[in-house]
Amino acid sequence: MEKIEVMISELELDKRIQEIASQIKKDFEGEEVVFCSVLKGAIFFTVDLMKKYDGICELDCVRVSSYEGENSTGNITLKIPLKKEHVEGKNLILVEDIVDTGRTFDYLVKYVKELNPKAVKTCVLLDKKARRVVPFEADYVGFSIDDLFVVGYGLDYNEKYRNLPYIGYVKN
Ligand code: 5GP
Repeated sequence: MEKIEVMISELELDKRIQEIASQIKKDFEGEEVVFCSVLKGAIFFTVDLMKKYDGICELDCVRVSSYEGENSTGNITLKIPLKKEHVEGKNLILVEDIVDTGRTFDYLVKYVKELNPKAVKTCVLLDKKARRVVPFEADYVGFSIDDLFVVGYGLDYNEKYRNLPYIGYVKN
């Protein structure tokens, strides 16, 4: 059984997500946006972000996979694609749980651009800058974190711990 230490509390998450929601609202004043959640990890973040977003918006989901256990396979596969008619001409905000090597976002941004959105923005709760393989900067970042394997608030370790209401790290 792994030991999990708290890294970011529920209260800290709540406060920062409210700030991001307000920033997105300002950036898209007078426009509609589509929050596109990258399943499964970003579900919790997307739901809370949308609940705090005081504007007209839609929800969509995309699913890719690249991770098994603690290791990225480096090989990204599209498991649930987006429908072109749900993206074309819209302001799409790709919502991810964490950016690590940058490969997933690099793949996803290229993929959605082919579907002709009006605009694409990237929003990530956690950023592990030290691990980047592909250069990538998200438009909205919740927290920059150290190179630790994190779980909770949607993030898993072999499908467990997604239900923790905080971000924790696996203590070795
Ligand atoms: P990237 O493609 O940027 O290397 O990785 C993005 C994906 O890797 C995330 O969506 C997430 O599923 C997984 N990932 C990267 N670091 C962590 C981590 O510390 N904990 C968990 N649970 N998943 C991670």
